[in-house]
Amino acid sequence: MKRRVSCVLTLVLVMVVLSIFPVSAFVLPEGFVYVTDVIETAQLDMRYYGDYNFVGRRIPGYEAPVAILTEEAAAALKVAADILAEQGYYIKIFDAYRPQRAVDSFVSWAKDLEDQKMKDLFYPDVDKSKLFELGYIAEKSGHSRGSTVDLTLVEIATGREVDMGSGFDFFGPISHHGTDLITPEQEANRNILRDAMVAAGFNIYPEEWWHYTLKNEPYPNEYFDFEVNVDEAGRTSAMDEVVRRAIEQARRTMNENLGGPFGAAIIDPEGNLVCVASNSVLGDNDPTAHAEVNVIRLACQILGTYDLSGYTIYATGYPCPMCLSAIIWANIKEVAYGCRPEDAEEIGFRDDFIYRFIEGGRQDISVLSITEYGREQCLELFKEYSELGKVIY
Ligand SMILES: [Zn+2]
Repeated sequence: MKRRVSCVLTLVLVMVVLSIFPVSAFVLPEGFVYVTDVIETAQLDMRYYGDYNFVGRRIPGYEAPVAILTEEAAAALKVAADILAEQGYYIKIFDAYRPQRAVDSFVSWAKDLEDQKMKDLFYPDVDKSKLFELGYIAEKSGHSRGSTVDLTLVEIATGREVDMGSGFDFFGPISHHGTDLITPEQEANRNILRDAMVAAGFNIYPEEWWHYTLKNEPYPNEYFDFEVNVDEAGRTSAMDEVVRRAIEQARRTMNENLGGPFGAAIIDPEGNLVCVASNSVLGDNDPTAHAEVNVIRLACQILGTYDLSGYTIYATGYPCPMCLSAIIWANIKEVAYGCRPEDAEEIGFRDDFIYRFIEGGRQDISVLSITEYGREQCLELFKEYSELGKVIY
């Protein structure tokens, strides 16, 4: 039985890797690099690969959730990332190199005044017919020259995105540098990013706090159109990156004596890493603070939902019965794991007795005694609930 379960899970792991990184014979052009190969800690939220962007669907030319830049821009960005890491921040990238065909699709989208699907979220106060003359959409973008990047900051200590006062690609004066529509704290946050980027050799763009272009860009007059995709090595390295981040997080809290050697990560339907977390049972005095439970809680907070349908969880160790239940409650359908149950047992962590208790009909009172008491009063409460006609989740 156990063996069969492991086989099924191995299959799931393979499927996850394949579904996140579809096969292609893509080769990255000379002079360009994957940002995560240069900056290991860079986080990615590639908005044009997914549908959470101002258009509301995946943009043509984006075939994988990766960030590509010229070698020169990536090297400069590494300088900024190092400055920011010392101040307690990772960088999170929304867009980097952008194919000309993607820019062309923005132009045709802008001309289609009927399509206002994402207006409320990205341009509530701008008349769509004015997007051109106001400069939000143009026929050419610096991004296609390969040395422009859109990014924000993530606090290393909490894993949370820093509050910049407006979201990426929000079209309006609140996104301008120097706006008085944001709080002093939000302005200070923008300035932390700006100061590091300027020190590393980037120019700001006055209308967008997230947009930076390398001053001495290597291809100032060339607009590229190769697709954004992963090469052979990139396909495995992206999944390896998830594993590396989960382990790094677990190692940190383990060494700080906050919990056991367990980390976990949530990956969104587009293959982007949402967040990582680790076991904090000792630090939080919380026996339920397993890595998987912690990462589900963090992801749900970040995403503002209790439903992680379509998301994948990665755990450094095979999830315990509590965590398996938490994963199922979260509507997650795909689990990938590192160490097997017997590997955890080897170092003293045993989940077996819980499985045996459940399989034995929950009768073993040496594990747990379960008694019915107060049913009448509790049924009252249930009755009240059913009369409210609420959603069942
Ligand atoms: Zn667990």
